[in-house]
Amino acid sequence: MNSLKVIDGKAAAARVLLQVKHDIAALGIQPGLAVILVGDDPASQVYVRNKVLRAEETGIRSLEYRLPADTGQASLLALIARLNADAQVNGILLQLPLPAHIDENRVLQAIAPGKDVDGFHSENVGGLSQGREVLTPCTPSGCMQLLHDTLGDLSGRHAVVIGRSNIVGKPMAALLLQAHCSVTVLHSRSQNAAQLCRQADIVIAAVGRPRMIDASWLKPGCVVIDVGINRIEDQGRSRLVGDVDFDSALPVASAITPVPGGVGPMTIAFLMKNTLTAALQQATPRSLPEAPCPSTC
Ligand code: NDP
Repeated sequence: MNSLKVIDGKAAAARVLLQVKHDIAALGIQPGLAVILVGDDPASQVYVRNKVLRAEETGIRSLEYRLPADTGQASLLALIARLNADAQVNGILLQLPLPAHIDENRVLQAIAPGKDVDGFHSENVGGLSQGREVLTPCTPSGCMQLLHDTLGDLSGRHAVVIGRSNIVGKPMAALLLQAHCSVTVLHSRSQNAAQLCRQADIVIAAVGRPRMIDASWLKPGCVVIDVGINRIEDQGRSRLVGDVDFDSALPVASAITPVPGGVGPMTIAFLMKNTLTAALQQATPRSLPEAPCPSTC
């Protein structure tokens, strides 16, 4: 395997976390992150544990709220209202998915936009599409960092985003547009998807279909960012693969993220970065431009 081509997401995430830790220590603050988990979904429990661990390592105080699966929407809204009003809490993360009886959109909208470290509140979504400085979703922000690390300036590149979800595909397209890329978004109704994708300098795969994108979708020399996390059975063993067929794409791409070890670690790192950004904005709402730059600017 050509290791120079394989983008090391763990190392990139470690750099982001180190900078966040350094900034927190230099500023002498301790940002607070509230993490809410409703129910006992095993994957969500792992994600929450990892987020809490990373927070502690970087000097962020984490507060965990583990609520039973039958928690009512009114109780969840009451907790969010309490956390919104708590000056010790700078960021609020509501782990998704929520149990079916809770209206996800309703509770996400209840989080104060300034504490919305996932960047899912419509005020932040709107701000992103208008190019304003807002809290942006962690996974697309992590992908942007990997692209800048790999390519430098992205201006004028043609990026194809496969997937149009609110949490990955759409904010990803908005960030690429903000970085002056020409952006094409593909989805389940797209026709000639592979042909369109072959025109891309940058391919972002966020579909949720194991190894759907193989070498035939790729222009030689393109950069591939694989967001997909899919659990498959392979020779009697369970393992994670991305949306891209890594082995087939590797000889064609100029750089590619692996799964695991690519985008995943960046998502958590940018959650910590967003928590620091939120704390700085809350501390100095009118003087943010003068505030120390939290990390990768
Ligand atoms: P969603 O299921 O919400 O969205 C999937 C998107 O893929 C939809 O827009 C859908 O189109 C599109 N799609 C489905 N089939 C096709 C197809 N055949 N051709 C083109 N597009 C298609 O998924 P998410 O965006 O939430 O997640 C995508 C993947 O990323 C998942 O594997 C998820 O686990 C992973 N993920 C990883 C994260 C990380 O930290 N690394 C974080 C978040 C997600 P349509 O809109 O038409 O239905």
